[in-house]
Order: sequence, then C-alpha cells, then structure tokens
Amino acid sequence: MTTLSPTVPLHDGRAIPQLGLGVWQIPSDQTEAVVRTALDVGYRAVDTATLYRNEEGVGRAVRAAPVPREALFVTTKLWQDRHRDAERAFDESLRRLGLDYVDLYLIHWPAPGQNRYVDAWKALVRIQESGRARSVGVSNFDRDHLERIIDATGAVPVVNQVELHPRFQQRALRAFHAERGIATESWSPLGQGEVLRDATIVEVARKHGRTPAQVVIRWHLDQGLVAIPKSVHAARLRENFDVFDFRLDDDDLRRIEALDRRDGRMGLNPATFG
Ligand code: NAD
Repeated sequence: MTTLSPTVPLHDGRAIPQLGLGVWQIPSDQTEAVVRTALDVGYRAVDTATLYRNEEGVGRAVRAAPVPREALFVTTKLWQDRHRDAERAFDESLRRLGLDYVDLYLIHWPAPGQNRYVDAWKALVRIQESGRARSVGVSNFDRDHLERIIDATGAVPVVNQVELHPRFQQRALRAFHAERGIATESWSPLGQGEVLRDATIVEVARKHGRTPAQVVIRWHLDQGLVAIPKSVHAARLRENFDVFDFRLDDDDLRRIEALDRRDGRMGLNPATFG
C-alpha cells in the first residue's frame, strides 16, 4: 500500500494534501517524468504556475496518472502581467494543463505597484463559482493585501502560499491566517536547500536517525503547514516523502523555533515586488 500524505482542511469544505511537490525551475521537458516519479512515490499534489512554463508537463503526468483525477490536487497560479485579464489567463492555463479543472488557483504575487490585485481576486472568485477551479487563494500576500481583498469582496482565500522555513517562520502572518481560517502553505520549505546545512537541523536529524530534509519537512507538518518541497531526483523525492512515521519532540521544536531570523527571507519581498 502506498502511504499518502495527510490533508489540511480548507474553509470552503475541501482539503489539500499537506505534503506536495513543487516544480519551480524544473525544465519543461523533464517535468512530466519528475511528476510521474513523484506520483509513484505517493505524492498526490503538484504546485506549478504559469511562470514556471511547465504546466504542459504537469498536465501530461496528471492525465496519464495511475490514479483517478479526483485523487490528485493540482495548483497553478496567475502571473501579474494578467491581473486585468485573469479569467482568460486561467483558461490558457487550463488549456496548457489539458485539464477540465484545477484544484487550486492562486494569485502569484499581489504586485502592489500595479494595484490590480483586487480585480484579479474578483475574477478568481468568479472562476471558482464556475467550477473550473475548485478552490481559490493567494500567494505572497501580506496582511494588508489580505485585508484589502477580503474587505472588497467578503471572499476569504482558502490558502496563502508564502516563503516559510525555519529561518523565516512568518509567525505574525500565520496568526492572522489562523484568525481568518486561511491555511498557510510554505514555499521554499527547505530554504532552497540552505537550511539543511544548519547545525541545529543537522543535530536534530542525527538524533532521530533522519536526514536534515526529513526533519525540516516534519517541522512544517508538525506546525500544521502545507509544504511543497522541490526535487528532481527519485531518491530525494522518496526521502522527502518518508516523513509520516516520526515526530519531533518539544525540545526539537523549541530549538528550531529559535532559528527564526528577521532577515531570514531568501526570496522577493511582496511589499515591494511588482
Ligand atoms: P525548496 O525549499 O523546496 O528547496 C529545493 C532545493 O532543495 C532543491 O533544488 C535541492 O537543491 C534541495 N533539496 C531538495 N530535497 C533535498 C534533499 N532531500 N536533500 C538535500 N537537498 C535537497 O525550494 P523551492 O524550489 O524554492 O520551493 C519549493 C516550491 O515552492 C517550488 O518548486 C514552487 O512550487 C514553490 N514556490 C513558490 C513561490 C511563490 O512565489 N509562490 C516561490 C518559490 C517557490
């Protein structure tokens, strides 16, 4: 029997696998094979985006999957050059994926300089109403961006996908998500591999007889976060999914909590990007 990831409930009544595969930077011609390997390992969720230019490969793997479409969870995202034109951009994503629906459609970045994300959010709500995206959410939204779209529409995103790893734990934003029933999804959950060399992570891994990647992924799961680590290697895909038979203890959690850094962000800042 394949072990599957637990799921996290979404406030619209649906649920997302807690551990999925991220495919950013996977070249289009490799993506189908990587996703197929991941599905064999037991992954059921794939996170892509128009920006990644590999929706076609994801779609091919999903359409050929040995499990029914309903057992899979496909996320894609709207790039900010189409905030004015989100419904058409969404249709183009669906066409590239070759699917009738996606499970989750996200606004990739708020791009506050353009100031069009409220209109984009209204379009995503319509897309959800049409059934072509089962759930809709956002990515890289700070609290003020979230408050603005919720105030404007009354519609609360099910997910906010943000940079989150032991060096950048986003505690204030997570507390706000919890108040509003928004699930937190961690991008760059392994800190792009950097966090795996941290001495504390290495020590905790040694203590459990696990790898640093497994400890960091377990940390996300133990925090109730959704995580989408990326790898193209079959052995690492297996390693990163082999995390459902151990837990971190209170001492481990305290030590990892202390790794949070004010300047721990590795990616772009949503307040200023776009
Ligand atoms: P990540 O934290 O998942 O790190 C991936 C890197 O870690 C790999 O390239 C590899 O170098 C290393 N790695 C993976 N497994 C390993 C293992 N077992 N042992 C040793 N090294 C290992 O970084 P990421 O790719 O930036 O983020 C994951 C996913 O998050 C992306 O693929 C994408 O889907 C999503 N993402 C979203 C946004 C956004 O703006 N919404 C931004 C960045 C990433």
